[in-house]
Amino acid sequence: MKNIKNDSISHPETKKSRLAEHIAGLPKSGIRDFFELVNKMDDVISLGVGEPDFTTPWTIRENAIYSLDRGRTSYTSNLGLISLRKAICNYVAENYKVGYNPENECIVTVGVSEALDLVIRAITNPGDEIIYHEPCYVSYAPEIRMAFGVPVPVSTCEKNNFALDPADLERAITPKTKAVLLNFPCNPTGAAIDMEQMKAIAALAVKHDLLVLSDLIYSELVYDSEIMPAISSLPGMKERTIFLHGFSKAFAMTGFRIGYACGPADIIDTMMKIHQYSMLCAPITAQEAAEEALRNSVCDRELMRREYRSRRNVIVKRFNDAGLPCFMPEGAFYVFPNITSTGLSSLEFATRLIQEKKVAVVPGTAFGPCGEGYIRACYATSMEGIKEATARIKAFVKELK
Ligand code: PMP
Repeated sequence: MKNIKNDSISHPETKKSRLAEHIAGLPKSGIRDFFELVNKMDDVISLGVGEPDFTTPWTIRENAIYSLDRGRTSYTSNLGLISLRKAICNYVAENYKVGYNPENECIVTVGVSEALDLVIRAITNPGDEIIYHEPCYVSYAPEIRMAFGVPVPVSTCEKNNFALDPADLERAITPKTKAVLLNFPCNPTGAAIDMEQMKAIAALAVKHDLLVLSDLIYSELVYDSEIMPAISSLPGMKERTIFLHGFSKAFAMTGFRIGYACGPADIIDTMMKIHQYSMLCAPITAQEAAEEALRNSVCDRELMRREYRSRRNVIVKRFNDAGLPCFMPEGAFYVFPNITSTGLSSLEFATRLIQEKKVAVVPGTAFGPCGEGYIRACYATSMEGIKEATARIKAFVKELK
């Protein structure tokens, strides 16, 4: 009988790699590696993984149950339920002041993660450069590489409040630059950009004919203003911007895996092809739950936002009191304190902190080399947890002296 198992593996003498080299060469996420370690330990207070500690609001969960109860278990349109796309476009128009046509300028995806992957694949020809600001979300560079593009990081720094300096951006632009990827409020720094900086970035996009990929997953979680404005609402920007968003953070729906992209019809259509052949559609239960989130959970979103704001104020103060200068982030649910005074590297600090005090934070270098000298602490955890964790951090820093 034919040995199927042996047939399916590559033979060393052919010297063919059984793995795709551009994928095999990618590093694994620094966050996940670190948290494999955390999971093996007991009693750790985690300021680690960036996920709301709130359970999804009840009305959303109830709607998901009700959707199943009604036997809603089919595929949907590849673009997503039209009722959800309409609700998304209304939400975006109302909150971000930019209008999209739900018929052809909006696609529902499996988290904003899928939307990011789709848009990068839809616009990237081999060798195209995509610029993004660092420290940044761990997926950006690998996603660009997986699409055979070239990731071009631009460092941001504490003295500029981790905003993207338009002059630095312009220096990174070459004839091969295809797009700029923005994420404000930013994971891991919590930084935002002001309107002046946003206008300057928009002007550069127009001048150099660039697309802008705008990851707005934390845009409702800002604490000193209402909602982070969308760059696509600026004159001349809608036609070159892809608005990327989802339900994971503001509505505490990470496990539902539901996101979306709004943008020019030709780009959405190209994204739809990849989505159609790979994912088909987002799960209907999650789509119906998301519709309910937009219909009835904006108040829950506001309550969570208020709670995050109080936690931010407490955690920033406590890091500063512990002798670790901490930039006041405007949004998201992360702080990015400076640990250089301890003389430890980010990785040493995070590793020793977990071993000696059982507090988990993420080394800043997980978000790019310019994260050296910082750690990321997520305050999407209880106030009690924040107080205990920062007390342990204070003791840890004191003992280092
Ligand atoms: N972008 C950023 C900046 C994020 O921090 C995350 C999640 N941590 C994502 C995208 C992915 O979110 P989703 O759950 O919608 O896929």
